[in-house]
Amino acid sequence: MDYETIRKPPVNAHAVRPNLDDYAGTRSAFDYERVIDGLDGLPGGGLNIAHESLDRHVAAGSGDKTCVLWEGKDGRSETYTYADMAKLSNQFANVLRNLGVEKGSRVFVFMDRTPELYAAAFGTLKAGCIIGPLFSAFGPDAIRDRLENSEAAVLVTTPQLKEKVYEVRDDLPALKHLIIADHDASPEVADGELSWNALMADASDEFEIVATDPEDPAVMHYTSGTTGKPKGAVHVHKAVLGHYATGRFALDLHPEDIYWCTADPGWVTGTSYGMFAPFTNGVTSVIYEGGFSARAWYEVIEKYKVTVWYTAPTAIRMLMKAGDDVVKRHDLSTLRFIMSVGEPLNPEAVVWSEETLGLPFHDNWWQTETGSIMIANYAAQDIKPGSMGRPLPGIEPGIIDEEGNVVAPGEEGDLAVRPGWPSMFRTYWKNEELYDSKFRNGWYITGDRARMDEDGYYWFVGRSDDVINTAGHLVGPFEVESALMEHPAVAEAGVIGKPDEVAMEVVKAFVSLKEGYEPTPELRQELTRFARGKLGPGVAPREIDFIDSLPKTRSGKIMRRLLKARELGLEEGDTSTLEDD
Ligand code: AMP
Repeated sequence: MDYETIRKPPVNAHAVRPNLDDYAGTRSAFDYERVIDGLDGLPGGGLNIAHESLDRHVAAGSGDKTCVLWEGKDGRSETYTYADMAKLSNQFANVLRNLGVEKGSRVFVFMDRTPELYAAAFGTLKAGCIIGPLFSAFGPDAIRDRLENSEAAVLVTTPQLKEKVYEVRDDLPALKHLIIADHDASPEVADGELSWNALMADASDEFEIVATDPEDPAVMHYTSGTTGKPKGAVHVHKAVLGHYATGRFALDLHPEDIYWCTADPGWVTGTSYGMFAPFTNGVTSVIYEGGFSARAWYEVIEKYKVTVWYTAPTAIRMLMKAGDDVVKRHDLSTLRFIMSVGEPLNPEAVVWSEETLGLPFHDNWWQTETGSIMIANYAAQDIKPGSMGRPLPGIEPGIIDEEGNVVAPGEEGDLAVRPGWPSMFRTYWKNEELYDSKFRNGWYITGDRARMDEDGYYWFVGRSDDVINTAGHLVGPFEVESALMEHPAVAEAGVIGKPDEVAMEVVKAFVSLKEGYEPTPELRQELTRFARGKLGPGVAPREIDFIDSLPKTRSGKIMRRLLKARELGLEEGDTSTLEDD
């Protein structure tokens, strides 16, 4: 079904003039190198994301402005000014210096969204180290894969989460310092652990940022591919130009905004748009420690008078399911601009929000590797529900064929982007070969399939690989298959994404058993528990089916495409490479 274009009135109800009100003019005149004019650069030369996010505002006399409105899981509120955040991060930078942690070292955080997480992230950047955030829902295997590959020297975690780290600590010889932070109390620390509170108490709140070059690595996010373990996409300090510019153009941030990004920093949206874009633009951010609940979320918007809100399709679909009555019980009239990312946003969701909240969700597209938003629906532009929108100033995407030639409007192809924007990833950590394989004929290949229409709007078609998108998070089937294979009963495992109304896809595993094991409901439960324990609930399979043998190519590769076609009752397609039974 076609949905009508949502036309934008010349002046919106909130009378805020959109930053990008001359799309064509801005795009044609735009030069990313000049974005630095709106930022600072380090006083002694160089560029550092933390300086642009925090210290710049303090130096300009805005230190008293509220940076973070924090709401804990228990409903407690705390306010942090830009000066507070600058000081806390200075302290953590001093902690790293006092520990002798060198520039370029990897510092990871494995914790919930408490103020300590943010202080650690910015302190790490100030010390010239690389910050790697992990989801607090990760299981021990997921933690090990990332810390092992990155050879992280420091991990900040909490008393509640540290046990998961201990399960794999022997595999992590590079991990020198385990810092335990507790927002509520000074934690008890065991031998071999350091107390956040004690370290911070001994650290000065003044720090001269380590001179970082624009091309020095700053942030690492692990992302999943079809094969192998997750890879660490590396971003540099220069990425801040992208965070700042897209904060203005795509998020339409204005100084008086109260902005809420619901993403966790374990996902790139939670760093680029949960920290760097809003902080560099000097707005006030709400940081909500709690998880999803329709009532709690609407309460956050009402209580903090949120004006700009950035969330994800799975959450929006859950809000739709929760019904309109709960919306009506809250005053959400402060909202003026709302956005979504991470999965295709159904046109119904755009229409629902227009009708129920009085505002359409603006879908936008980007990924871990691109570091910032590439394609977006804008505050000043008409929305075609179901489309991801049009390219940002400074960004040249294209729909290309196998040879790397641009196809005609309306035709499907690989979604690619011309390299060279500041927040593009610079490598996969210790995997240059894989990085190189992502380029074709002068294009960066995103792994997505899409179309562009005659008006230059982009439409998502699907992934070109087997990567699963569950509730906006990419899961590599190989990671899940490997974990299942570690169970003594499992001979082989094949993992696919099964379409789901709410989460877009759920992880589904097909398992063949070793001789002597019976496919019982108890074993299924046991395997589910086993995988959850290793990977965490977001990554482990939601469904497990037993199967005598998995379809494989003659070279022995599991044909996930075939598993999926069979699961969905679709045509099996080309099976000429299928191994004979
Ligand atoms: P990640 O790197 O984990 O942020 O995942 C990026 C992937 O999520 C993209 O390559 C797409 O497959 C998907 N994705 C992100 N945003 C959108 C969107 N607006 N519409 C459709 N798919 C999206």
